[in-house]
Amino acid sequence: MMHQKILIKQKKNIALIAHDERKQDLLDWVKFNKGTLSQHNLFGTGTTGSLIAQNVGLNVTRFRSGPLGGDQQVGAKIAEGEIDFLIFFWDPLESHPHDPDVKALLRIAVVWNIPIACNRATADFLISSHLLSEEYERLVIDYEKRYKRDQFT
Ligand code: PGA
Repeated sequence: MMHQKILIKQKKNIALIAHDERKQDLLDWVKFNKGTLSQHNLFGTGTTGSLIAQNVGLNVTRFRSGPLGGDQQVGAKIAEGEIDFLIFFWDPLESHPHDPDVKALLRIAVVWNIPIACNRATADFLISSHLLSEEYERLVIDYEKRYKRDQFT
């Protein structure tokens, strides 16, 4: 299978998102890990990003609120290579009007093979990995080479 290698730099571009029922959990986690997170570039959906900035005092580049397109904006940044790390505490007990966007975001994170944590235990493992402070080459399946247009003509 053909792969391309994409570099994740030492300083990561980390997106932080939490659904309403999971926001406190994410805030607690961010507070606990403030020192480590402050060494990276942080991004977030509207409300999550504001809460982190106000309560923890970290700089967060904010997109739209999730239900208004923020999840899709984060997905687009992953596809463009500008976000390479995702902490996304989604709510497993409620459905949301923007569930299709949530699914799309999780899918695009898998396509581009970026680290994703959807609960605190995984987030703890990711943030304590020695790879967090190193460069890392992620392997991405080269779908364009896999499905050459001319093979169908
Ligand atoms: P919010 O969006 O941070 O604006 O609440 C999160 C989401 O619901 O995806």
